[in-house]
Amino acid sequence: MIGRPRAAVAGLPEYKPGRSAAQAAAEHDLAEAIKLASNENANDPLPSVAAAVAEAALGMNRYPDHRCMEVREALAGRHGVGLDQVTVGSGSVGVLQQLFAAYVDPGDEVVYPWRSFEVHPVFCATSAARAVTVPLADHAFDLDGVAAAVTDRTKIVVLSTPNNPTGTVCTTAELLRLLAAVPDDVIVVIDEAYREFVTDPAVADPVEAILPSHPNALVLRTFSKAYGLANLRVGYGVGHPGIIGALDKVALPFIVSGIAQIAALASLVPQAAAELAERVAGILAERDRVNAAMAAQGWPVVPSQANFVYLPVGEGAMDLFVRLERQGLVTRPFEGEGVRISLGTPAQNDRLLAALGTCDPKQ
Ligand SMILES: *Cc1c(COP(=O)(O)O)cnc(C)c1O
Repeated sequence: MIGRPRAAVAGLPEYKPGRSAAQAAAEHDLAEAIKLASNENANDPLPSVAAAVAEAALGMNRYPDHRCMEVREALAGRHGVGLDQVTVGSGSVGVLQQLFAAYVDPGDEVVYPWRSFEVHPVFCATSAARAVTVPLADHAFDLDGVAAAVTDRTKIVVLSTPNNPTGTVCTTAELLRLLAAVPDDVIVVIDEAYREFVTDPAVADPVEAILPSHPNALVLRTFSKAYGLANLRVGYGVGHPGIIGALDKVALPFIVSGIAQIAALASLVPQAAAELAERVAGILAERDRVNAAMAAQGWPVVPSQANFVYLPVGEGAMDLFVRLERQGLVTRPFEGEGVRISLGTPAQNDRLLAALGTCDPKQ
């Protein structure tokens, strides 16, 4: 160790990147492998967005607009909210990190269901917050358990819905019930990275159905998944101006690159938005097809509202992960729990189903 890192940092695990497709191919002597591990959009970028990005790259010698005003305006218009109700960050994870920076003091409590998105424990640790986790019930959130875990030390409740990795959602009625039970000085984060893939009619847009009556709710969205801009790091938060103002105060200078801002804007023009929606429809059709095929093969499939599927194979998780990797499919295992598999192109999904067909669901 050099210097004296905080105990909270010394105790954190080092980031271990998942294996890349190229590494997996080399290790197993395969011509090629595919990565179905990060819930990315398997489609190439839209030509119109790629062209806008190429042109914006010529301005890379200049700092971007720190406040991302054009993107904020476009998003405020799209969601029918005030300009002071939107902030833009380095992915929605960046906005969540700003929320921790703005709200969480050492010793404060942060409540979230677990298993869920892996940044939650990391942000708790780096803030020296007390992470209060609530076990999943049948792979979904137990929101009564979450409400019961809130104390007068709780600053934030984080709900990723659809949940990563299980793909389950909270319905609007469930969220409203939770918000009614939680003191109104606790921020309730509705992290909707996979919003565009949700088809459950019991899930309304929380910007319309929840924010007007609950100023302590914050909705997070991202351009990383449905919009296919994972590499560019751009996401946003919608909420009360009081929360947005606090988030803005702790933003790193120029946190969102100008290229990312241009890509977000180019994705929001009506023509591009329509093309992207069509691609999402294709992913949803594949989700139905893959789910049905997996169930027919005998896999325990959790019905997913996202662009990935989750197989809760328990102790068989690492074994299934390795078997799939040997066939050129890199997935995301959770040891002793299950395997999360991102949906790919139809051809990639065919390959996945063929590989799964060679594995035993009962092992
Ligand atoms: C992918 C993901 C995000 C969004 O990440 P970005 O920082 O926007 O790329 C947020 N929440 C969950 C649960 C995710 O899986």
